Amino acid sequence: MRLRFVVPAVMRTGLAVAVAAATTLTAEAAAQDIEYPASFDRLLQDLSVLAHDSMEGRAPGTPGSARARVFLIESLKSIGAAPIGESYEHGFETANARAVNIIATVPGRDATKRYIVLTAHYDHQGVRGGVVFNGADDNASGVAAALAIARDVVASPLGATLVIALVDAEEEGLLGAKEFVAQPPIPLGQIALNVNLDMVSRTAGLLWAVGAHHTPALRPVIEEATANAPVTVRQGHDRAGAPEGANWTNSSDHAPFHQAGIPFVYFGVEDHADYHRPTDDFENIDPVEYVASVRTILTVMRALDEALR
Ligand SMILES: [Zn+2]
Repeated sequence: MRLRFVVPAVMRTGLAVAVAAATTLTAEAAAQDIEYPASFDRLLQDLSVLAHDSMEGRAPGTPGSARARVFLIESLKSIGAAPIGESYEHGFETANARAVNIIATVPGRDATKRYIVLTAHYDHQGVRGGVVFNGADDNASGVAAALAIARDVVASPLGATLVIALVDAEEEGLLGAKEFVAQPPIPLGQIALNVNLDMVSRTAGLLWAVGAHHTPALRPVIEEATANAPVTVRQGHDRAGAPEGANWTNSSDHAPFHQAGIPFVYFGVEDHADYHRPTDDFENIDPVEYVASVRTILTVMRALDEALR
């Protein structure tokens, strides 16, 4: 499916530069005319870097993971998102490796301290049998989206203070998010909302917003903010026995926040043919779908920030 959308002329910029830099982007995609906010300039390029073979599938504790981390920390620095405390890196031990969460923050406008924590796991499944699992959708897409959103929020801050948590070891059982909640770098009681991004590029025209079943006040805000979105947003997958199928309440990094009583919205797509396969590659991502998805998530986040004040 191909999506068409427009943004105000002042926000338009060409994709040509990013496409030229993202050397693996397909010719078909490069030929498309995509419009997006200026803060999204690097979105596709960042995704292509994270999903590159040189990152070796970003398994915790590996040289590929360390390379990804260097890239992410340099990106956060250049964006102007500061660390909390002395370092962006918050290490912890798993059964198999030393894992590292990367945490940064962008101050909000409000005098009352409230936080929105934007999570996206940067780890994936590494190299198996000599084959790199690049995890382009899962979850280079969420991490590159988080960087683009951080850029936008630096340029135009939220009311709440944004915390960007690029967490590790999700694939081993949400370990980075669990660590964040167990050793919170900010008071948990001041977190108004967790927005979790995990697999946000392969929408095929449909993006799920999960979590309003647990916090009904979120539902009308999400509904209104997505009424004219460039991708269809459906709410659900947040309770047992729902007609849409599986309950995703505990399926990604929002779960530890939910278990700590923090409202969450998880954005993600249905499992697709390349899910957890070595073919989850940059080339298989439709840039138009991806940009539409990230623009929509940013719009919802800003609406929720206003609604939660
Ligand atoms: Zn994932």
